[in-house]
Amino acid sequence: MMMERRKKFLLSESDIPTRWYNITAEMKNKPLPMIHPGTKEPIKAEDLFPIFSEELSRQEVNQTDAWIDIPEVVREKYKIYRPTPLVRATDLERALDTPARIYFKNESVSPVGSHKLNTALPQAYYNKIEGVTNLTTETGAGQWGTALAFAAKTFGIELAVYMVKISYEQKPYRRSLMQTWGAQVIASPSMSTKTGRKIITDTPNYQGSLGTAISEAIELAIQTPNCKYALGSVLNHVSLHQTVIGLEAEKQMEMAGVYPDVVIGCFGGGSNFSGISFPFLRHKIVGKNNCRFVAAEPASCPKLTRGEFKYDFGDESGHTPLIPMYTLGHKFAPANIHAGGLRYHGAGSIVSQLLKDELIEAVSVKQLESFEAGILFAQTEGIVPAPESTHAIAVAIREALKAKEEGTPKTILFNLSGHGLVDMSAYDQYLAGDLTDHEVSDEEIQKFLATK
Ligand SMILES: *Cc1c(COP(=O)(O)O)cnc(C)c1O
Repeated sequence: MMMERRKKFLLSESDIPTRWYNITAEMKNKPLPMIHPGTKEPIKAEDLFPIFSEELSRQEVNQTDAWIDIPEVVREKYKIYRPTPLVRATDLERALDTPARIYFKNESVSPVGSHKLNTALPQAYYNKIEGVTNLTTETGAGQWGTALAFAAKTFGIELAVYMVKISYEQKPYRRSLMQTWGAQVIASPSMSTKTGRKIITDTPNYQGSLGTAISEAIELAIQTPNCKYALGSVLNHVSLHQTVIGLEAEKQMEMAGVYPDVVIGCFGGGSNFSGISFPFLRHKIVGKNNCRFVAAEPASCPKLTRGEFKYDFGDESGHTPLIPMYTLGHKFAPANIHAGGLRYHGAGSIVSQLLKDELIEAVSVKQLESFEAGILFAQTEGIVPAPESTHAIAVAIREALKAKEEGTPKTILFNLSGHGLVDMSAYDQYLAGDLTDHEVSDEEIQKFLATK
């Protein structure tokens, strides 16, 4: 007799987590502290107050409280799209003819189309209750900017977004979304900051980069009264907020009556990977299990698989504290691949420590393999994935095919960090055969790592 195969595992609103999970409190080897570039002293929460909300600054350095309450107002707003579904990818399984069970957590159902709203809402909220009236941020492909635009509007804060110039020109729809939610969007480099003016003067046709946009956003925040800066990845408080993904998935996998053998997330700065992984990794740290955790990064920006573990700046011009991380060097200029959200030179300090301690693994995926995976996923499960998310799908497919080869069933869980409906120009190029693989040479990596 065939056992019924359930497709979706849905929770109710009362199942939305009431607390975020702070993994650093339970890590045996704590992540190294961020360091002040001038004094070389470890960063304390107060040192971050000029840039970030005070509560977010405290969360950033908190290594003692394993659980942090989600403010009731934020939890209410989470109800707009949470809990998100956990789905069994039965049609993908069939297409691969694999004995593996594949599950994905569908974060693409958020109104902004990605997981980024999970941290945008609390970030806007804490700033609001501390009396901040204006926020600045940067955005590459536009996902973070759109998430923060909606969150800022929700809590009545003005937002200025520095958007990497090439995306501003080539991806007009995320700009329109940010403007629809009331944000001011500025192409970066711009004439509105010292950093921007210098770059435009030196290199008039510069197409912009995430590093430059971060520098501009921080500069504006520091110089404007009642204005703070917000970041959508890399930092510890961002990973903390994203744990709602894994905490829900933990309950849903239980409903499905299975436990993952491998958990997969695509990797830009680490926030969605952290979000899906940390609640399961907790079982490995405080208990005992053999679950594997795999971060999927693009071959063209391979900080985890080919970078170096060291202190480096989070932005191109060195405005941020020094962060202990796997990095390709803060001057690294990644190829212009379509997974814009994965084009970041470094990794968060928690995931970096976990990788160093071999509690997690990392693999890289080339652009063409990622799009092939994205197309197969769209044609079987119906959702067009974000170009970033296709990296996680590609690794899930690799694992499922390995299971088939070995003839052993296994349970795979990956995070679908977002949908690709605003990225169809990337799919157009893939379908037209115009996409290529980019890989960086060892010489190039060494050159950027050595650049101060
Ligand atoms: C921003 C983004 C990413 C990469 O960021 P992480 O912090 O590594 O999660 C991945 N997927 C989507 C859909 C994104 O918007």
